[in-house]
Amino acid sequence: MPGSIKDLDASVINDFKSKIRGQIILQNDVGYTDESKVYNAMIHKHPGMIVKCADVADVMNSVNFGRENNFLIAVRGGGHNGGGLGICDDGLVIDLSGIKYVRVDTETKTVRVGGGNIWGEVDHATHPFGLAVPAGIISTTGVGGLTLGGGVGYLSRKYGLSIDSLLEADMVLADGSFVTVSDNKNSDLFWAIRGGGGNFGIVTSFKFQAHPVKNVYGGPTLWPLEQTMEIMEWYDGFLKNAPDDLNGFFAELIIPGPPFPETLHNKKFCGVVWCYVGDMDNAQEIFKPVLAMNPVFQHLGEMPYPVIQKLFDGLLPPGLQWYWRADFFKEANADARQRHLEFGEKIPTPLSQMHLYPISGAAGRVANDETAWAYRDAKYAGVIVGVDPDPANAEKITKWCKDYWEALHPFSSGGAYINFIMNEGQDRIKASYKGNYNRLAKIKKKYDPHNLFRVNQNILPEGNN
Ligand SMILES: Cc1cc2nc3c(=O)[nH]c(=O)nc-3n(C[C@H](O)[C@H](O)[C@H](O)COP(=O)(O)OP(=O)(O)OC[C@H]3O[C@@H](n4cnc5c(N)ncnc54)[C@H](O)[C@@H]3O)c2cc1C
Repeated sequence: MPGSIKDLDASVINDFKSKIRGQIILQNDVGYTDESKVYNAMIHKHPGMIVKCADVADVMNSVNFGRENNFLIAVRGGGHNGGGLGICDDGLVIDLSGIKYVRVDTETKTVRVGGGNIWGEVDHATHPFGLAVPAGIISTTGVGGLTLGGGVGYLSRKYGLSIDSLLEADMVLADGSFVTVSDNKNSDLFWAIRGGGGNFGIVTSFKFQAHPVKNVYGGPTLWPLEQTMEIMEWYDGFLKNAPDDLNGFFAELIIPGPPFPETLHNKKFCGVVWCYVGDMDNAQEIFKPVLAMNPVFQHLGEMPYPVIQKLFDGLLPPGLQWYWRADFFKEANADARQRHLEFGEKIPTPLSQMHLYPISGAAGRVANDETAWAYRDAKYAGVIVGVDPDPANAEKITKWCKDYWEALHPFSSGGAYINFIMNEGQDRIKASYKGNYNRLAKIKKKYDPHNLFRVNQNILPEGNN
């Protein structure tokens, strides 16, 4: 049984406070309610203590304090996780949001990022140098959780997943020690954290290779939902032959409101959000076949990379209800496309959507066992999200997601991208790491034999599976 922070002697808490430069927040403290809110408002957790770490020493002291007192430990980076895995009931939350910095080395084109940064901060710092690091599609997401889970986004086809640009990380391990991991240092850990999530320790600093990206050409193109089968088939074939410079994720959605024009509001569509990172002079040519498909709405154009990264931030503030389901897919055959159409017609609320993210181009040219991320051979990472501001609709959005997922799952490759799932149990985690799971369990046993870091998509130490 984990220890209880409530039962701690005041002297123990005071002693711990003397070791922390950041802020310690207990249940009766001012600010506790706000600090324990989860981005996904469907989840409510009440930690015993939140430590807002100011530096690596705070993280080391917090890990030691949590381990010595047998507390459940959660680690919070950007706090975006769908399953609320940045927080826990009763235990200790090690919050990294105070460990933020972005330093661009213009000579090596590498970027040092703190364990608690969000992607918008990285984009802002790299953009003036004409550089970017592959991230996701929403700029408020944490670098920590997104990267450790893999990192799928607009630049995946050109420059790979976020983990493919990770060169080095500083980590605090379960025994409180500090290590640097890379291809040359603690390479087993470096392999494991590239997809294995927060299972192996707390990353206090990331070093990424950045890539030449200044402006991109992209934006959404929409078609009536009834055309889903035709557009999905065309999209699949078109992307197969497109250069890596072009990426686009497929979506089924209801247009919820601005920034889209009013004539589209509350109508159902299928569509693609594009991002082209090649020579801007060729962009018109690249998009000719897209426009030849006669979208009913298109908002394509050249924009700075940070703009496309923020395009949909405003639609997804903290505090919405979210329910997530996901799977990897090798294809979208006619039967699968039929199911997509069927469930697209039943989208329950304006923010609920289905997305298919391409795992191709550079992201697909890495072997399944080169990093812990085991589905390089999948063609798409699919995700179904039920989203709504009203808690009264929680059941409705959950049911739609579950039904949609069950109808599609027979067409899947078996596992899911772990950053797109909530709490689905050990079999799903194993399926999501498939051939890499046993190697991950071995590394987990070596670095975290007592499973101190278990508030995550948990890889059990070898011998416990
Ligand atoms: C609106 C939205 C859009 C998204 N879009 C994308 C997308 O385009 N592409 C994509 O790949 N994913 C996307 N995601 C999923 C996202 O990758 C996950 O939700 C991820 O877990 C978020 O990371 P975080 O640091 O914000 O979350 P947190 O809730 O803080 O953490 C998530 C997990 O990571 C661990 N963790 C976080 N930071 C660290 C660290 N520094 N060291 C050790 N462990 C750490 C936590 O312990 C926890 O287990 C999106 C999520 C949302 C809500």
